[in-house]
Amino acid sequence: MNAPVFAYDTPHRDIDGLQRAIANKLMFTVGKDPKAARDEDWLHAAAYAVRDLLVERWMACTHAQYQQDAKRVYYFSMEFLIGRSFGNALLALELRADVKEALARLDVDMDAITELEPDAALGNGGLGRLAACFLDSMATLGIPGMGYGIRYDYGMFRQTIVDGRQVEVPDYWLTHGNPWEFPRPEVLYRVQFGGRVVQDGDSSVPAALRRHRWVDAREVTAMAYDTIIPGYGTQATNTLRLWSAKATEEINLSAFNQGNYFAAVETRNQSENVSRVLYPDDSTPSGRELRLHQEYFFVSASVQDLLRRYLQTHDSFDQLPQKVSIHLNDTHPVLAVPELMRLLLDEHGLAWDKAWTLCQGVFSYTNHTLMHEALETWPVEMLGRVLPRHLQIIYDINAHFLKDITATHGHDIDLMRRVSLVDESGERRVRMAYLAVLASHSVNGVSALHSQLMTESIFADLARLWPKRFNNKTNGITPRRWLAHANPALSQMLDGHIGRDWRRDLSHIAKMKPLAGQKAVQQEFLQAKLANKQRLAAWLQDHMGLTVSTSALFDVQVKRIHEYKRQLLNVLHVISRYLRLLDDPASVTVPRVVLFAGKAASAYHMAKLIIALINDVARTVNADPRVGHKLRVAFIPNYSVSLAEIIIPAADLSEQISTAGTEASGTGNMKFGLNGALTLGTLDGANVEMRDHVGADNIFIFGHTTPEVTALRREGYRPQPYVDASPDLQRVLEAIRSGRFSPQDPHRYQAIYDTLVNWGDHYLLLADYASYIEAQDRVDAAWQNPSRWAEQALLNVASMGEFSSDRTIAQYASEIWKTKAIDL
Ligand SMILES: *Cc1c(COP(=O)(O)O)cnc(C)c1O
Repeated sequence: MNAPVFAYDTPHRDIDGLQRAIANKLMFTVGKDPKAARDEDWLHAAAYAVRDLLVERWMACTHAQYQQDAKRVYYFSMEFLIGRSFGNALLALELRADVKEALARLDVDMDAITELEPDAALGNGGLGRLAACFLDSMATLGIPGMGYGIRYDYGMFRQTIVDGRQVEVPDYWLTHGNPWEFPRPEVLYRVQFGGRVVQDGDSSVPAALRRHRWVDAREVTAMAYDTIIPGYGTQATNTLRLWSAKATEEINLSAFNQGNYFAAVETRNQSENVSRVLYPDDSTPSGRELRLHQEYFFVSASVQDLLRRYLQTHDSFDQLPQKVSIHLNDTHPVLAVPELMRLLLDEHGLAWDKAWTLCQGVFSYTNHTLMHEALETWPVEMLGRVLPRHLQIIYDINAHFLKDITATHGHDIDLMRRVSLVDESGERRVRMAYLAVLASHSVNGVSALHSQLMTESIFADLARLWPKRFNNKTNGITPRRWLAHANPALSQMLDGHIGRDWRRDLSHIAKMKPLAGQKAVQQEFLQAKLANKQRLAAWLQDHMGLTVSTSALFDVQVKRIHEYKRQLLNVLHVISRYLRLLDDPASVTVPRVVLFAGKAASAYHMAKLIIALINDVARTVNADPRVGHKLRVAFIPNYSVSLAEIIIPAADLSEQISTAGTEASGTGNMKFGLNGALTLGTLDGANVEMRDHVGADNIFIFGHTTPEVTALRREGYRPQPYVDASPDLQRVLEAIRSGRFSPQDPHRYQAIYDTLVNWGDHYLLLADYASYIEAQDRVDAAWQNPSRWAEQALLNVASMGEFSSDRTIAQYASEIWKTKAIDL
């Protein structure tokens, strides 16, 4: 008998082959001929052709993972802020120039069509972008793994600015289809909500031995969509699997039969709402019930999926911790813990102790914030209504835990109250972060400072109980997207001096250090920087009608708008500089372009008011002829990964000015450093380690340190003395209060003034003001010497080796996940 014939054409990588492949895709997949094809059609045709080149290695890699029975890491995250995929795939395949040429032969401008790809904006900011950088590094290092998350129909909202104010518009990223995903309509899991729990057996059997059944629940179906995550310089790839909610019954048949078509589809719509939209902001409370549904929806489907995969090749759970790691990116996915317990206990009949030991072997957790208001808790009432069985399991986990503590620490009521999973003060709530710590064998913070503060503040009691469980893994960024892709000018220069290996191993970038003092190298660097500034200047001209001079210092703060990040402190400096310019134009020697970008959570009133103030200040300053070319201010709308890719390489100065002790790590700071901006920052998050690596002489540090902030607050911080001591500050605050930037609405910014002066200035802007202004003067002084500036910027670039997400992931792999690279 003949073996079944399965033969396929390996896609061609040469220019002729690429040209033909794109033509074939346009014809047979998109279904257009070149006369009718729009730019979007060409983009899709090119994307399908490029995706084909990744598929073979994807299958080979998945096959190798099964064959080698490799330990897999499942990275659970509510957010993946991927950005665009086309350029990233071209980079991974090293085919950018060839695909550009193939398209050119078809009379298509690749640069123009790549601009049409919508960002996959399935995240708010740093946390989601970290998840995306981690997937890139896991693939590049060959760590077998998978990202699990939600395929939101609408990602992060699009920000428009209307009359200076933020207006949110839905993100229709899937309207034109997504050529990068593979829908898997056969990969379906049932996810239940509501209902009640019954126990089998009669009361002669001890309760602990009787099986629980979850009945009368509502059901939603989770359907998988897979995206290939290509590694760089390797055949290794990984998969991002995102879940979309589908109604269990397509339509309500009985309503349909009765002719009530709207009622028939209504339940369907309700079920599918679970994956409809991304919740805004990772650092404001969002105790909405739909969010709880989302969190459970994606972890339930993911845990079911990974158990099914495990059981394909194993017939007991004994090996689970040797074969599976589940990493919790913040507490949003922590319901995976009671879900795994439920499946092991109720579906597979394991005993409690066995199931719990497996859990602790499998789970690890990263904490991302110490801010009290951002720590997730769910009301017991809500949790019991939506997930009755899970609440029972959480209570049981808590009972075992408190019993253990009593055994080891005696009957310390105060300690028990503090560490209990259930916060009994006021409305009873479950502390999700404590559940994550209990269930995990590893708990890490994301910078040295944050990891230390974590064990001294929110987890102080738990860290005393289990000191070895806590560790640090300082964040990183992928040098592929954030240097090779975003900054071709600088990349080319680096290649010329140190070769191309930094893409796969960023420690090579240190080879630039001995060259930083050379005049010719500095000149090259300044040329590359100028090219990036011209690219951004052209963008500002085209999109905002704003003219900026590329010889000015580009002073940039781009990140979520939040009071702790202190965009407002930056505005105070801008106003001070503006008023100084009006006093005496000669007193300001360095022309600056001050750029802001970032979204505010839609319900965060103060953050939105700060955006309005930035725009009003920008309008006033830019229209004032007395300012001349010395100061330009702009708020760039709709900050996103693809905007970051053109803003960051153009920056001279990176503003990382959060109140010390509030920014867990920051990753924007690393992107700027790697692209040759000097940092103006507080000793917060990873800024501290950046200073250690670049040297205190090559970074502008200011402001109160974390211990100083703590002391100031302990002693009863009052902003008024700082106002009294500074006529400059008085003038700046008065300009805001009196409506100088909003003459048609003079009281518009009273609340901002009050926050600072009368309501306690929680983030200590006024306490850091003088130090900040003084640091800005140091920046001006340094800018006067372009050669020295270039040298310092080059030293920053050369010192960023440590901040590659490859380094971070290598540490996670060896110290937390205990997993090795796949053998290909
Ligand atoms: C890196 C990044 C962030 C995080 O910036 P921080 O300065 O660390 O807050 C947020 N949004 C986007 C689009 C990013 O690329």
